[in-house]
Amino acid sequence: MGPDRPAPRRGWAGLTIGRVQGVPIVVQPLWFVIVVVFTASSGPTIRDNVDGLSSSESYAVALAFVLLLYASVFLHELGHVFVARSLGMQVRRVVLQFLGGASEIVEEHPGEPARDFMVAMAGPLCSVFLAGVGAVIAPAFEPHTVPWLFTEGFAWVNALVAAFNMLPGFPLDGGRALLTIIWQFTHDKTRAQFVSGWVGRCLAIALALYALYVQNVPSGQGKDHFNGIYLLLLALFIWANASWVIGRSKLGVVVPRLDVRSMTRKALSVAADLPVAEAVRRAHAATARALVVVDSYGRPVGVVSEAAVMATPLQRQPWISISELARPVAEGLMLRSDMAGDALLAAVQEHPATEYLVVEPSGALCGVLSRSDVIAALQAAGLR
Ligand SMILES: [Zn+2]
Repeated sequence: MGPDRPAPRRGWAGLTIGRVQGVPIVVQPLWFVIVVVFTASSGPTIRDNVDGLSSSESYAVALAFVLLLYASVFLHELGHVFVARSLGMQVRRVVLQFLGGASEIVEEHPGEPARDFMVAMAGPLCSVFLAGVGAVIAPAFEPHTVPWLFTEGFAWVNALVAAFNMLPGFPLDGGRALLTIIWQFTHDKTRAQFVSGWVGRCLAIALALYALYVQNVPSGQGKDHFNGIYLLLLALFIWANASWVIGRSKLGVVVPRLDVRSMTRKALSVAADLPVAEAVRRAHAATARALVVVDSYGRPVGVVSEAAVMATPLQRQPWISISELARPVAEGLMLRSDMAGDALLAAVQEHPATEYLVVEPSGALCGVLSRSDVIAALQAAGLR
């Protein structure tokens, strides 16, 4: 029943179990562990609430109940996904993690508060609807039977997911909604990120204090011990993501002034088999500060980082070909010279590298952008 993760991160997140509308559904390995822990800890409670269950039956019901809980979280995420997709937004994947679920929706630049608001609200609204369905169906069953437990539990779990996610701090849905509302009225996304991030941090502190309280409440079952740890992890998770958006807000002051062209280093194109020493000599002569390896058709195939050249001992430089130091030009390592601001920062964050190839919109080679130059530009503006 946790929050959505804000930062779109690539890489392996877990097992892809299927696709919905083309969006991969990924399950983190730790999720399976938490299902077992939840099942083990809720078995006795289930037996207390349902008449006539044996011990093993109560654990089977507990497992089904935990899966129902995560199905609720999953449906909540699908609420976000369907609305995002119907607005034409890109969704990278949905991750089911042990703290809940996360829909990784690609951030738009510059983006529109109204669109983000609808996506943020879709999850909680979906949960409210499901809670209503559970609440309507539950009275049809005899109390303290398995169908009653499932429908009643379904109603409660969805109500809890909706209520928790509507807390107004980032990265929870309520915090995202708050962000879009402040953004809409102030036309200042940066300030909106800063405020929703700080509310998120306050929530994290409150949740951590509550976790410590739960931890110290005497309990016969030892169950609250686990709940305390779970809540503490959730608080840490919220704190980390709230801090991330506060960081983004600080960048937001500086980033609009960044543009690729002004930071692009002049690059020298060299053939793959040229020795490093000769390539460096030619670069100095041409006052170029970067090296790009091109194939026989003149197409860029690799970027040589300054660090790689520096790390190669001088006496070896005549004997190594430049291609050995080059990093292949992958899709994300190519930036357009007219990129600026947020889009530039997002591109650099998404594909961390020390050097990027810069091309003109026409496709012609423009030069090389060094990550260190971007950082220096941010620092020059008073930001670390
Ligand atoms: Zn949500």
